[in-house]
Amino acid sequence: MKDVILDKIFIEKNSLKSKLAQRMIQIFPKEKVEILESEYDLSHKGQLSKEQFEWSKKNLLITEFKGHFFKRCPGATQKKTITCCNYYVLNLGSQCNMNCSYCYLQSYLNTPIMKAYSNIDKAISELREMMIEFPQLPYRVGTGEVIDSLSLDHLTLFSRELIPLFKEFPNWTLEFKTKSNRVDQFLDLGPCQNVLVSWSINPPHIIQSEEHDTACFEERIDAAKKCREKGFPLSFHIDPIIWHPEWKENYSYLVDEIIKNFSPEDIKVFSLGTLRFQPEQRFMMKERFGMNSYVNNSEMFLSESGKMRYDWHLRNEMFQFVFKRFKNHNPKWNIFLCMETPETWATSVNVSPMNVPGLKDFFRPLPKIKNELSEESIGD
Ligand code: SF4
Repeated sequence: MKDVILDKIFIEKNSLKSKLAQRMIQIFPKEKVEILESEYDLSHKGQLSKEQFEWSKKNLLITEFKGHFFKRCPGATQKKTITCCNYYVLNLGSQCNMNCSYCYLQSYLNTPIMKAYSNIDKAISELREMMIEFPQLPYRVGTGEVIDSLSLDHLTLFSRELIPLFKEFPNWTLEFKTKSNRVDQFLDLGPCQNVLVSWSINPPHIIQSEEHDTACFEERIDAAKKCREKGFPLSFHIDPIIWHPEWKENYSYLVDEIIKNFSPEDIKVFSLGTLRFQPEQRFMMKERFGMNSYVNNSEMFLSESGKMRYDWHLRNEMFQFVFKRFKNHNPKWNIFLCMETPETWATSVNVSPMNVPGLKDFFRPLPKIKNELSEESIGD
């Protein structure tokens, strides 16, 4: 995987004493770091242009986050149309240094710079307060909603702050979700059964054509093996499954490679999702990746949830194909469908998540958490 390329790091004055800012000052040459006397001007009306969006991926702002760090996964706000798995998100920054053609940040973000939050101590105390209130409940918390969990983690070292906290509360699960292979910075903190390291993965051909600047297929598999060796449970998200002429061969290769390298006991859970995006994202995707991208040249339809998706029959065919390839190998593979309707669950994989022993807990309704924000659907 290529090194992270950052043109400039801006540090707001009130973040200067933070561990994060001090680390950035140590790592990067002087000419790349600028200390700002006042807050960075984040006001921007409407969607970013292609040029602004691309600039925002290469420039990092170290700033304090002012709101609540912890909120419910967007799926929870669409309960009528999708099956939700009780997932919470903890955002420690926004924007991503990698570059996937289908990335939803292209329509979601309107801040003109990548951000990493300097006040992670506040996030930790917010979390700790909730963990103390509900220590027995199996909440799942992910950090990869509007920023990849690990692609900058060798710089920020946020994982090293979060893992010790989750070790104190073994019923809670932390999930790092990534398309990078940056795991070395926390491996010495294992074993840790409630810190799940998960990869969003696609066949090599799709990684090459749609997931630019990410770790290649083999690098993701190797990083997962390293985590397994150090006692971290793993998960894979085959998401988004993207249609292309050779999709059956390529997704068969992906499933077979996973089966070759891992056992059902190694992988806590698998999720499958097919390509989906907000309609307003189309223009930016076409401008940035052209019509050779499989994402731009596929036929998509507006779904009930307001997102563009493949036709229902194609989605079912893709889910069934991947699901069956795993299950024919070993029925023990735990697989769920991410952000899908109960009807798709029933017709594609012929089950309800509530009837699958390994998945039941994920879908069991849990008490609402204090200060929980119910945001509009944004992401996956
Ligand atoms: S890795 Fe995730 S957040 Fe980063 S560009 Fe790809 S889809 Fe977007």
